[in-house]
Amino acid sequence: MTGERSDKLHPAALPVIHRAPWLVTGLASGDAGGGALVADGALAVAGGIIRCVGTFPEVVRQLGGCRIIEHESAVLTPALVNSHCHLELSRSALAEQYEGRPGYDGDPTGWIRDLLAEKDSLAGENSGGDSGMLTRARQTLQQMAAEGIGFVGDVGNSLAAEMVGHGQDVRVAFLLELLGLSREAEESSLARLERMGSDGPTVVNCTAHAPYSTAPAVIRAVKQRATRRGHPFSIHVAESEPEVEFLQNGSGVLREFLEERRAWDGSFRIPEKGAIDYLDSLGVLDGTTLCVHAVHVSEAEITIMAEKKAKVCLCPGSNRFLGVGKAPVTEFLARGILPALGTDSRASNRILSMWREMRLLRQDHPALEPETVFGMATRAGAEAWGVASQIGTLEPGREARVLAVDGGTAIKRAADVFEFLTSAGETVRAEWVEQKDDDG
Ligand SMILES: [Zn+2]
Repeated sequence: MTGERSDKLHPAALPVIHRAPWLVTGLASGDAGGGALVADGALAVAGGIIRCVGTFPEVVRQLGGCRIIEHESAVLTPALVNSHCHLELSRSALAEQYEGRPGYDGDPTGWIRDLLAEKDSLAGENSGGDSGMLTRARQTLQQMAAEGIGFVGDVGNSLAAEMVGHGQDVRVAFLLELLGLSREAEESSLARLERMGSDGPTVVNCTAHAPYSTAPAVIRAVKQRATRRGHPFSIHVAESEPEVEFLQNGSGVLREFLEERRAWDGSFRIPEKGAIDYLDSLGVLDGTTLCVHAVHVSEAEITIMAEKKAKVCLCPGSNRFLGVGKAPVTEFLARGILPALGTDSRASNRILSMWREMRLLRQDHPALEPETVFGMATRAGAEAWGVASQIGTLEPGREARVLAVDGGTAIKRAADVFEFLTSAGETVRAEWVEQKDDDG
């Protein structure tokens, strides 16, 4: 039981108590602050902030006399955090088209070719330009909000995509992605960074695409700029076997693809290292670097990631669609890394649902504890994006981004709660608990 005394609250913001048979704090079992699951749980909300969390009798004892809202047969949970997406690709039909057909069998170049062809055709036809992109991206964001996502880590190639989250209830952290491997592309990316400047709140935050697509000088410059601006540096890394083959030997389908696209001019020195090892050699792995995918990493690389406190985001739905393999989740957990989860975009995932990502991850790794998986979709995402003091758990002082998840008849005892939340997938029905002041 933790909380503030009611007399500290402003009288205009009287708390409302929300009560449910089960309350999931999002904390790890054994954490200070109350553990993971509370039976007959309640939380008090005032001014959009959680004031008090505990069992219903505890919360009433502390804040008696407030309005009480009962959420029968529901589980109160923190909002979900989607740690990796490209909302600007919401118009893509690639994942839909290939659903049920053989995927790309782990060769990323087939998919990149299709993605570029689709981009060209969207640019060629009358698709409404940026406003067409923004309309679809906002629809996607609203669908995410409707299923209980409260925060999205979004990466885009177009500056216009930065607008997607403006004026929306869901919090969106946008990063403009730079890439380019040839000398010419490197110089143009560095010049672009220079032109954008790095000071002030109106300056866009930037990130780099991947070790195989972005010159090392650009990766370093973008990381240094992110550190100065105080935001996470998110990078796709070790997604496929061909990526590692290219970084280690300079060969394979990615090399052929880069040559074909005239992105290869020989200026990139093959690092002869695994993807994580290579990023570490550039000095860009630390507690604010988010390694997205991290499927093909060695034991030694996981040790480096743990030592550097690097963050990880897994995208099981996207990985499955592209056939690139399964990330070594158990090994990450054994080294004390709790990966976050992301849907990735509609170009590699037909359904952008975090409930589904949890279900797929559990299918891929049946030995995972359901409670751990739920922590990945909430707390770990908030930590990865540097917002854990505001969202990701139900604790006093956090934003009241709270879901009431309908457990129906599936939840009869404590052990059913996390089982249901992480295996029901896109059938989960979640409603937002009142977020604003409510004077009844
Ligand atoms: Zn991505």
